[in-house]
Amino acid sequence: QFSAKSVLVTGGAGFIGSNFIHSFMARNPGCRVVNLDILTYAGNLENLKGVEGNPDYRFVRGDIGDAALVSSLLAEAQIDSVVHFAAESHVDRSITGPEIFVRTNVLGTQVLLEESRKHWQAGVVPQFRFLQVSTDEVYGSLGDTGFFTEETPLAANSPYSASKAGADLLVRAYHETFGMPTLNTRCSNNYGPYHFPEKLIPLMIRNIINRQPLPVYGDGLNIRDWLHVKDHSVAIETVLKGGQSGGVYNIGGNNEWKNIDIVNLVCDLLDSRLGRQNGENRGLITFVKDRPGHDRRYAIDASKMRQELGWEPSYTFESGIAETIDWYLANQEWVEQVTSGAYREYYAKQYGER
Ligand code: NAD
Repeated sequence: QFSAKSVLVTGGAGFIGSNFIHSFMARNPGCRVVNLDILTYAGNLENLKGVEGNPDYRFVRGDIGDAALVSSLLAEAQIDSVVHFAAESHVDRSITGPEIFVRTNVLGTQVLLEESRKHWQAGVVPQFRFLQVSTDEVYGSLGDTGFFTEETPLAANSPYSASKAGADLLVRAYHETFGMPTLNTRCSNNYGPYHFPEKLIPLMIRNIINRQPLPVYGDGLNIRDWLHVKDHSVAIETVLKGGQSGGVYNIGGNNEWKNIDIVNLVCDLLDSRLGRQNGENRGLITFVKDRPGHDRRYAIDASKMRQELGWEPSYTFESGIAETIDWYLANQEWVEQVTSGAYREYYAKQYGER
């Protein structure tokens, strides 16, 4: 078992990165965490209120593509583990503006890998690990049956997933070419607190609360596997500590849902919570023109995680989704602030315009 002492988390102000920092710091007291995040629209320091002030935690606003900055952080903080979340992550945005996806997800990852390689080869720390957090979307789309395994060929269909696949292959190349100790996780759709309200579940919750239409792509029959973000966080920690160097690990919830069924479920759970009539919220559903290149089905075979590393998800979907809805109801101010850009203005004042 690898014991991390000083971790560089990239993209730690985003949805999964911030949940990971909360989970990891609670489970690994005394381990130092440096959070490097440029704070795009998707990054919010409000997500990290609970760890601010912890002497083991430090935030640095900056770009993963800034080689000099990355190099100095790795050396200064004696980093022994890089856990790489930073990315542009929204498929729809990658269709309208793919360039930033290549810049951040491919080139940014390459800079991080290159600076990590130099740091690792300099031998400043006795052991080193680079963990690339990726997605099941790199495998493309499935038919009605079957699962993605770690051996499934990469067949990305959106500019987002193509940029993640490019990054995953660079990670592989740094292992094969330089022998660098890398790890690569590929997870299904996450849900939970601090999820930016452009993504399916928080978007639906927000629109239902505001009695806005609920846009559902195409026929709504696209299938995704869903995992609670806290289960994903523990899975990443498990791979960091116990994964085989060069290994790829699929992470999933064995929990497939059609998009329309998720939307119906969220509608129904919110009927009672908002004191509305049964079925009232479903009336807000509006089918919209399908996303181009929309993958039909993703399903993950996570048996390697279970068998090799003994990882299991702890949430049932029923408990996780109910808890998530209650979190959004209790944190409506957060939702309005992130969507209005109020936090961005605040950071611009605090850290300068980006
Ligand atoms: P997110 O969009 O919520 O957060 C991304 C974070 O990266 C933001 O805080 C942003 O400010 C930061 N960032 C962007 N560009 C940067 C740069 N150049 N330098 C430094 N920081 C930068 O994304 P998320 O949903 O939390 O996803 C995190 C990672 O997990 C991504 O790599 C994504 O591909 C992967 N992933 C996501 C899911 C999911 O369901 N959301 C599933 C599997 C894998």
